Amino acid sequence: MNNALNVLKKYFGYSSFRKGQESIINSILNGNDTLAIMPTGGGKSICYQIPSVLFDGITIVVSPLISLMKDQVDSINSIGINAAYINSTLSNTEYEIIKDKVLNNTIKILYVAPERLLSQDFIMMISSLKVSFLAIDEAHCVSQWGHDFRSSYKKIPEFINLLNNRPIIAAFTATATEEVKVDIVNLLNLKSPEIFITGFDRENLNLTIIKGGDKKSFILNYLKTHSKDSGIIYCATRKEVEHLHELLIANDIEALKYHAGLSDNERSTNQEDFIYDKSNVIIATNAFGMGIDKSNVRFVIHNNMPKNIESYYQEIGRAGRDGEESDCIMLFSPSDIHLQKYLIDIGTYDEFRKVNEYNKLQLMSDFVYSNDCLKKFILNYFGEEYDKECGKCSNCHFEGELVDKTEDARNVLYCVYEMKRPLGVTTIVDILRGSKNQKILRLGLDKLNTYGIMHNFSKDDLKNFINTLISHKYLESIQGDFPVVGLTENSIPVLKREAKVIFKEINTKESISTNNELLTILKSLRKSLAEEENIPPYIIFSDSTLKEFSQRFPISINELLDINGVGEHKANKYGEEFLSCIKEYVESNNVTRNFTYLKSPKSNSSKTSSTKGKTIDITIDMLKDNPSVENVINERGLQLNTILDHIKKYFLEHGSEDLQLDFTNLYNEDNEREILDAISKVGKERLKPIKEIVNTNISYDEIRIVLFKNFAV
Ligand code: ADP
Ligand code: MG
Ligand code: ZN
Repeated sequence: MNNALNVLKKYFGYSSFRKGQESIINSILNGNDTLAIMPTGGGKSICYQIPSVLFDGITIVVSPLISLMKDQVDSINSIGINAAYINSTLSNTEYEIIKDKVLNNTIKILYVAPERLLSQDFIMMISSLKVSFLAIDEAHCVSQWGHDFRSSYKKIPEFINLLNNRPIIAAFTATATEEVKVDIVNLLNLKSPEIFITGFDRENLNLTIIKGGDKKSFILNYLKTHSKDSGIIYCATRKEVEHLHELLIANDIEALKYHAGLSDNERSTNQEDFIYDKSNVIIATNAFGMGIDKSNVRFVIHNNMPKNIESYYQEIGRAGRDGEESDCIMLFSPSDIHLQKYLIDIGTYDEFRKVNEYNKLQLMSDFVYSNDCLKKFILNYFGEEYDKECGKCSNCHFEGELVDKTEDARNVLYCVYEMKRPLGVTTIVDILRGSKNQKILRLGLDKLNTYGIMHNFSKDDLKNFINTLISHKYLESIQGDFPVVGLTENSIPVLKREAKVIFKEINTKESISTNNELLTILKSLRKSLAEEENIPPYIIFSDSTLKEFSQRFPISINELLDINGVGEHKANKYGEEFLSCIKEYVESNNVTRNFTYLKSPKSNSSKTSSTKGKTIDITIDMLKDNPSVENVINERGLQLNTILDHIKKYFLEHGSEDLQLDFTNLYNEDNEREILDAISKVGKERLKPIKEIVNTNISYDEIRIVLFKNFAV
């Protein structure tokens, strides 16, 4: 019978091993030095705890996480394995008690901080014992390439030499880059170790990357629709943590913050409040999380793209340790790349390391711009084989069309080919769009055949496209202080028309054109107001302010004040005119509004929220529980229109059989007859003509309900 499995069942109460655990444990039990690379939350601890029970001598576990040791030791003790720890938090008396126990052979697992290993007293104590096994947790700390270098880790081999017998040594880490791997094996003196890279697939993590959306409204909406869930929001800088924190507080969302600029005291209080579920959300820099064992983290949102895939995977790894489905959402904007590059620039002095960091950043960017399954990208990156598609990341889910981009790709590749000198993405964009900027003219780049050939692309779209070409290796980015773009072996077949470039793309959304329509209306209103006052239009509101109106649809003065570029004065002077224009548009076009305050709200009026996907599920779940539509509107604080939208989408996918709906209190039957009558006259295509001929006490919402009930539109 398998001893390891017995221990797993008897002590830990689990019925089976997770991927990789059994082979790692067997390797150790067979006396091999072992290097196990498993992701955060993958279950590394059991891989050394089980052998320690089965070995006759003591097991020493080196762990850098003083804050975690107590928890770990408490939890192993609680399942009946004798364990203790030695670190700087112990009082002298506590230390003496543990020492006694160790010397009496009553301790099976002893956790030690690396700084302690070479202390005279510790060596004295250990030298009389049989050490069967030495486990080095977070072993990447030995490598300067890793992200948490600890110089005391380099002393570990010296400690081993001081022991009577060389124990079996196993190293554990979640960081798997080649340099780190090599460092662990060499610097820890592992003897022909068996190396395992497994379990990187955390099946319950749903990866999503959202490019180019409004990050703030996304976060606010998400938090409102997931208010019962616990989650972490990572930001790249302290400043962003502070800003986002203020924003949430201003929107009545309780949240904690965590970054290196806070006092030790505040940090540990906030961390505890998060761990003990006193507050659901914590906004943090990457300083937060090492050693956070909280198992019910339901989501990790990255407000910025992290600097490399290791950090990303480690950070999202903090979600769903309990195995429950969890969301990992990265909100990406291209400026994140510049920000990370800047952080590397100011944080890395060693030139060699800097280039290494740039390369990792490039791979991170490749990941973000990839069109393939995100899971596959990551697992392959970590050296684990995975050739299927996960079916649940945003790329797998994304219902785009496959579009032949060969001609566009050829234009870009040809430009890189003919420019003769290495240039960066921005310059290539300028050439292709026919920019007349100084650099282009000075370098004579306006003489190239491809100059201006892609002028119909917007700057952002073209940049996006080039980055996607890089991500799919049709081009490469060559790192340095100024990264430049070069051709790859995949470029030639495309240039020769021997290979096609096919990308998945969103079919252009109708909503974009509707927005433009409102923008046009608002611009003409602005123009006529400006003419009346004899001032230039932009003095009234800038283009970007109007654009924001057309995207966020404010319909009250408070909402208007939340738009960038609207102060109290202008709100008073022009507010009513613009609001009635927007209101009319919203009503007659059946627009689903999605208004969320981004500045501090002046009052708490009319906050609504909605996001796609999950939020639909919530609506439907509530309806299955209680068919009253009114109830859902009240409970969720969403508008009828939004709820109807959810129901329609649900019907489209699942049909209408299993969903009862009750519209009580939302309409009355006499009005229904009148509305149906009106529809027979003016049709059901637009709401406004219907509204115009029915009794004025009939609301747009009632018309919507009647349309939905009778025609499912
Ligand atoms: P890591 O150190 O790799 O980040 P942990 O060792 O802390 O991960 O394990 C993460 C969680 O997974 C723990 O709650 C642990 O109890 C649980 N776990 C580990 N192995 C198994 C298993 N075979 N079956 C069920 N749960 C497990
Ligand atoms: Mg661990
Ligand atoms: Zn996928």
